[in-house]
Amino acid sequence: MDLFSQRIKRSELKEGDHVYTWRKQMYNHHGIFIGQDKIIHFVNPKIDGKLGLSASSSVMKTPACPISYCGTEKVAGGGVRMTCIDCFIRNGSLYRYKYQAQRAFVRVKLIRGGTCTTKMSDPPEEVIHRATYLHENGYEEYSLRNNNCEDFALYCKTGLVSIDISHQGRSSQVNRLLPTKVKDGYRKLTKPFKTDLGIRTDVEKVRVEMLASYVANLKLKKSNILMK
Ligand SMILES: [Zn+2]
Repeated sequence: MDLFSQRIKRSELKEGDHVYTWRKQMYNHHGIFIGQDKIIHFVNPKIDGKLGLSASSSVMKTPACPISYCGTEKVAGGGVRMTCIDCFIRNGSLYRYKYQAQRAFVRVKLIRGGTCTTKMSDPPEEVIHRATYLHENGYEEYSLRNNNCEDFALYCKTGLVSIDISHQGRSSQVNRLLPTKVKDGYRKLTKPFKTDLGIRTDVEKVRVEMLASYVANLKLKKSNILMK
């Protein structure tokens, strides 16, 4: 058995799990399992939105899923979707994101990123509440670098938001790809570790009901600074 494998069977899923699946072996897509067959995840409306599962989509490339809730998007363009497990994993497998991972584990996993954090998860009820609230009320704009599917799931699991609007990205799979000024290869490899949620000090807990106004405030502060 591979101790580092995070692949799980459906029967092993627990409510509130942060799960991911590999897409084309290139990147992983993340979501929160909320029970039954449902996963809430954040997609880029510009890309995944077009491939959408909704029956109304005219550019639909995949057949519509027969399950009533699957692919529903309550806020137009919001990008938070509720889908069945099959539609989430497509032809791939299911993996569980690891919380409270040992530092050594995180270091091994850094090579690909986007699979674990040393941070502890909040209780499942809280995680599910955040995910369903954001599905119903909308979420921030998608940004690969600053706010992607992994960031969404990490927020649902921890409630943590960066106090710096331009450094919201908590996603290790993106952080590892960011250009670094350090030429030294070793430093380059350890850089994402410094962005691990369990280590970052520029984050604070924000209640999901307050998230939109909190982020709006950060944006306002930033634009005020730029105008000065
Ligand atoms: Zn489906």
